[in-house]
Amino acid sequence: MIAVLRLGHRVGRDVRITTHICLAARALGADKVFLSGERDESVIKSIEGVTKRWGGKFEVEYRKDWRAVMKSWKGKTAHLTMYGEPLNEKIQLLRKEKDLLVIVGAEKVPSEVYKSADFNISISGQPHSEVAALAVFLDRLFEGKELEKAFKNAKLRVVPQPHGKLTEEKDG
Ligand code: SAM
Repeated sequence: MIAVLRLGHRVGRDVRITTHICLAARALGADKVFLSGERDESVIKSIEGVTKRWGGKFEVEYRKDWRAVMKSWKGKTAHLTMYGEPLNEKIQLLRKEKDLLVIVGAEKVPSEVYKSADFNISISGQPHSEVAALAVFLDRLFEGKELEKAFKNAKLRVVPQPHGKLTEEKDG
């Protein structure tokens, strides 16, 4: 199980970026997102709608208490931060983990997260975005194979085209 813990969601301000975290997590092979910060049903509903149409097993769960999510997690935890150890130095070790909780922040991440995470991992030492950091992390974790993942029970699928857009709808 590869899960993502999104810290510090703010209703209104973070809707778009948190939705994108969930979309990227789903599309790039993660199984679940724990949403912490302010409760926001709109994000959960919109991702449920995407999963219903585009298939696969993916869940978004609101958990107010991120400490409890970290504490009860069975496997290792990897917090993505520009101040952490370089991804390239740690990725082989991380690939061995069966259950991994990938933690991404918003504006300010509590220092406790840096201390209690098993790994603090940087996707370059430059400031950028939680969506970009998560996408690169998952792609390196799965070595690109996540791009070929089949999403079961999809009602809709893209038929790849050199130009233009084509989708196919499944009956039933
Ligand atoms: N000063 C923050 C930090 O500690 O990385 C930057 C905040 S940034 C707007 C929000 C989130 O993006 C961070 O909490 C982190 O999860 C992720 N992020 C941004 N740049 C990153 C990088 N170079 N490596 C890993 N994660 C990064």
